[in-house]
Amino acid sequence: MKNETLLFADAAVESLEINKTLPAKFKRMLKKKKLQEKVADKNVAIKMHLGGGIGYTTISPVFVRILVQSVKDAGAKSVFIIDGKNPEEGIPRGYTSEVLGCQLLSCFGHSGNYYRPEPIGYKSLDEALLSGEAMDCDFFIDLSHVKGHGTCGFGGALKNIAMGVIPPETRSKIHHLEGGLTIDRDKCVYCLKCFKSCPNEAIWKDDEKKEITFFFHNCTYCQHCVMVCPEKAITMEDRKFEEFSRGMALVTSAFLKKFKPQDLLFINFLTNITIYCDCWEFSTPSLVPDIGILMGDDIAAIDTASLDMIKTEDLLPKGLPKGRKLLDVDGHLFEKIHGKDPYLMINYLSKYYDCNPEYKILEMK
Ligand code: SF4
Ligand code: SF4
Repeated sequence: MKNETLLFADAAVESLEINKTLPAKFKRMLKKKKLQEKVADKNVAIKMHLGGGIGYTTISPVFVRILVQSVKDAGAKSVFIIDGKNPEEGIPRGYTSEVLGCQLLSCFGHSGNYYRPEPIGYKSLDEALLSGEAMDCDFFIDLSHVKGHGTCGFGGALKNIAMGVIPPETRSKIHHLEGGLTIDRDKCVYCLKCFKSCPNEAIWKDDEKKEITFFFHNCTYCQHCVMVCPEKAITMEDRKFEEFSRGMALVTSAFLKKFKPQDLLFINFLTNITIYCDCWEFSTPSLVPDIGILMGDDIAAIDTASLDMIKTEDLLPKGLPKGRKLLDVDGHLFEKIHGKDPYLMINYLSKYYDCNPEYKILEMK
């Protein structure tokens, strides 16, 4: 199978010249990619995550504006940005049509209900509702900010589609796949030893009902709760948490199959790489120094390369919330933080969709 050659722009600057900085390199990458051959006379959708609240680590409008202008210059019939949220929510962080140079739309149209059902047929994920606006475009640009994620380890190109082009109903079905810890309520005496022993605030208590529940996003499967429970009420199913990654891969595959491979482009920003997703409505300091931008035609290659470039030895002390320690496990930095293998979703996608995690890098100067 042919290796994908990914374009890479390093965030590091060789000298203090505008031309050597990341936005200038980004322009050269887009030129190198020969956008004209791809998007001329087409309706182009750019899917991005506009973040939320007072978050400040999503992709800077400076880069988005460059991308929009490049698509226009390449002769696109139209270009618009889509996000799962109401685009007006992006205004406080600078995402406006005036700044970016094109319309911003909800993935689900003005009505909020513009989607197309697609059968999936996997456990609770019987079907996925896919963004009508995205499905209507002729060319799809997956513009992703790379960062960590509690439930699956990381978010990049795959997650920007899997969780980004679907409405809450489908997102909830994917979340229903997650799990791994079960509680036998007949055995539980509500002593709260598990609640007190959890290092990650992954157990919630309800004093009225006298019940505990698990918040799997935060759970790193350390099993402290399993071990401290005097009633043996908690059991852990081995690697059940993998189901969330599988669900995301199934939805991403269903979506991508609606496009010809030549009508897709993936761009990953490895800047402001934070511990958690942009949907938390706030930002934390970077886990590692800024790395740069990757661009390519293969989703598995670009997400694999993104992960490979994030190294544990580059961890910045302020990147983790105070008191948070790395887990004593092998694997990627995100696995040491979140307890979940971030490559899993890519492995699953490679089973369901014709993509290849192998890659070569061509650096843009
Ligand atoms: S396995 Fe660990 S992180 Fe998960 S709920 Fe139990 S104690 Fe908390
Ligand atoms: S430690 Fe066991 S018995 Fe105590 S609250 Fe947790 S599950 Fe229930």
